[in-house]
Amino acid sequence: MALSGSGHRNGPYFTIDLHLHTSRGSSDSNVSPQQVITRAREIGISAVCITEHDHMWDVQEVQDFAAQAGVVLLRGMEVTTEVGHVGAFGLDRYVGGIYRLKELRRVADDCGGLLIANHPFRYRLDPKLTFFNNHEEPFDPNDVSKAAEQMVFSLVDAVEVLNGCCSEEENRFALEVARKLGLAEVAGSDSHSVDSVGCVCTVLEAPALSERALIDAIKAARCGAGRGLLHDGNITLFGVPNQAL
Ligand SMILES: [Zn+2]
Ligand SMILES: [Zn+2]
Repeated sequence: MALSGSGHRNGPYFTIDLHLHTSRGSSDSNVSPQQVITRAREIGISAVCITEHDHMWDVQEVQDFAAQAGVVLLRGMEVTTEVGHVGAFGLDRYVGGIYRLKELRRVADDCGGLLIANHPFRYRLDPKLTFFNNHEEPFDPNDVSKAAEQMVFSLVDAVEVLNGCCSEEENRFALEVARKLGLAEVAGSDSHSVDSVGCVCTVLEAPALSERALIDAIKAARCGAGRGLLHDGNITLFGVPNQAL
């Protein structure tokens, strides 16, 4: 199957980095939207999704640039909620009150949007790192049952089980929780610099050339979390043994 966008040629699947910050909308990023697109073209990822903190991008601004580069550019937003960072797709803009996850869910439902629990266990397993997290009691890395009961998982459509800035243990734990709950599994680099764009990626069975197609695919769980694009170009699915695509 031929793919659109920059066209990864190694297999009949579509790769997309679902979690990226740029200097245009996130003060903690040092990569411009143009650099993201150029890099996406270089590494052969099918699409990139820019997700600034609490800010939905006006994608028209660089859409022509992306089209010329042959890269599919989509948008999302990383909303800071009372229970952590949540990836939101399908909204047009930031709406007052969505720092409460229940309100964000309501707004997303109104527009057929998608919500993802981003890096849900970052700094939440290692007792030495709890100062990052209001000194909350860490979860037992060997027992996902309590973690799976968190409210966030009852209000999202998917879990970011592979985040480029999380430890392997944090990602594995998120994967186990997602599987226990039967939630869709996605990946995002969480890049704030150009080198890590595409270090992990969400893998879709079919091309997603629009935000709606992306939302529909993930809501139907026709997706997985992959990595390997920057290593040798061969994608392997996270948590699926010996599964090179
Ligand atoms: Zn985040
Ligand atoms: Zn982020």
